[in-house]
Amino acid sequence: MSQELWPDDYRAAAMFSFDLDGTELWRTKIEADSEFDKPPIRSRGRFGPEVAVPRVLDLFDRYDRRCTFYIPGRVMEDNPEVVGRIVDAGHEIGHHGYEHINPATMTPDEEEAELKRGLDVFDDVVGERPDGYRSPAADLSDNTLELLADNGFVYESSLLDTDVPFFHTLDDGSRFVEIPFEWSLDDWPFFGFNMYPPLPYQSGISPTGPVFDSWTREFDGIHRRGRCFVLTMHPQLIGRAGRMDALETLLDHVVDTGDTWVTTGDAIAEHWLETH
Ligand SMILES: [Zn+2]
Repeated sequence: MSQELWPDDYRAAAMFSFDLDGTELWRTKIEADSEFDKPPIRSRGRFGPEVAVPRVLDLFDRYDRRCTFYIPGRVMEDNPEVVGRIVDAGHEIGHHGYEHINPATMTPDEEEAELKRGLDVFDDVVGERPDGYRSPAADLSDNTLELLADNGFVYESSLLDTDVPFFHTLDDGSRFVEIPFEWSLDDWPFFGFNMYPPLPYQSGISPTGPVFDSWTREFDGIHRRGRCFVLTMHPQLIGRAGRMDALETLLDHVVDTGDTWVTTGDAIAEHWLETH
């Protein structure tokens, strides 16, 4: 048993996270390949900020729990009122690039400029800098970890080593927290779909029930072992009405255990720094 991993006698932790890519994900695809430049593709990302985020905020408000959003800087600039509602509800916002570009495709200078441009948006739109980072495309360059440490990040959430947090220790001895990500707990491979050129990480449109059954089984296993459940969702996918109802059933199940710490990435990272 590992009950000592979590505060207040919680047996396990659960972090519900939402990558609010909005239209930015599609804009970068359109710029890279004109075959994507069609009205339906350009419209695809609006569902996230406009329709899905209010549903997510309503759900977590009714359960009085906090979650984490990772948002590209440009999406925050385009949707300051959505950012304001997320912050006012007490949820966390983490860095998710400025544009939605895979950092592993950039030179070190480009990657640093992209990270800093995203931080400037936090200064302007949120009023404070983020503790957390999740990479667009769930990919990192060989320089990303050092860059995050140099820019004061407390944690990162893109790697897959284990199912509890761990530390990255850098050459200068500084350390910061990793809250591991997992593809089978990401909605994109199950629900990510668009027409025209196939996108990476998508396998078609899965039926809602089996996906949530799989996620519930993974949560139950993690809860039994006292580990950390990290679910990664994209509002433009998970915000569909039937999927939101399924998410409510899952959140209800998690809360109903009575001993699962449902919280944000920054709370988990800060707890890990204090106790390890
Ligand atoms: Zn993303």
